[in-house]
Amino acid sequence: MEQRYLKVGRRTYSDPSVVRLVELHSKISQDPEEIIRYLIRNELTDARNYGWSGPPFDPKDFASTIGIPCEKSDKLFHSEDAELQPNPTKEGRSIIKYNPNKPKTRQNFSIAHEIAHTFFPDYQHQYKARHKIGKFDPNYEVEFLCDLGASEIIMPTPDFDLDVENMGISLKSLRVLSKRYEASREATAIRLIGTDFYPCALIVLDYSHKPTEKDKIEESKCQLNLFGDYPWEPPPMKLRVQYSVRGTHFSVYIPKHKSIEESSPLYEVSVTGKPFQGDTVLNLTKTPLNTYVEAMALPKTHNTDLDSRVIAILSQTRKNS
Ligand SMILES: [Zn+2]
Repeated sequence: MEQRYLKVGRRTYSDPSVVRLVELHSKISQDPEEIIRYLIRNELTDARNYGWSGPPFDPKDFASTIGIPCEKSDKLFHSEDAELQPNPTKEGRSIIKYNPNKPKTRQNFSIAHEIAHTFFPDYQHQYKARHKIGKFDPNYEVEFLCDLGASEIIMPTPDFDLDVENMGISLKSLRVLSKRYEASREATAIRLIGTDFYPCALIVLDYSHKPTEKDKIEESKCQLNLFGDYPWEPPPMKLRVQYSVRGTHFSVYIPKHKSIEESSPLYEVSVTGKPFQGDTVLNLTKTPLNTYVEAMALPKTHNTDLDSRVIAILSQTRKNS
């Protein structure tokens, strides 16, 4: 079959499920992000008419209003968080099974993510969960769109947008809104940037090797098998850009994997765990980026003695056009 692509703004989509979604709903938009948001918002409006309310907005209640039961389960086959399974009592329908032992914020997001899958016309052919939920990774197109859809369910328009209008984009509003909407700090921060009210971006930093170092480590593992010792000692991991999310009006592209200097206040946040607010210069791009930053430590995702992950909200200042 002919491979089809969709170019929308900064993104290109080629996943057949996404192409099919746009074909089906081309009257709404040519942009799959807009289509998913539109379809979900429509259902949310109906659910509100049946009394669904918040914040916090419970995705399980929303699921039941659109005919998808949610059940706790200790038997998930494709995910440690949640997955869609065929409904054994209703042919052609689905059921969401979720892990009740995960933190509430994570349960909420995972269930909402699975609901978003059901808005794809061919979702029943893809029952297996494809990758980790909540990564907002644009390389996994369907998963990325389901993460967007999930954040629309947990932090819906207009409630969330009105809160951001009143509170602005800051660490303080991030803390308050993440609690109010029972969403993780990362998911809330991504949704904050997505409101597009201010020229902002966020970066999440974590300790890792850069891709060339990872390749070399893999190579040296093979050599280890041949010669029985390490011919090459890998360098220590550095605090690097894990991912970034830019608002439409934030003009500077922030490359992935770029490391943060030890003199940077963001490095300080990782080491001390204390938040930072103030102007700084970030050497992440070709020209140094003068920016106002608010940054805080995030819980670690690995069991090492490395310091904390960091989330930073950058507001573009007058010096960068
Ligand atoms: Zn998924």
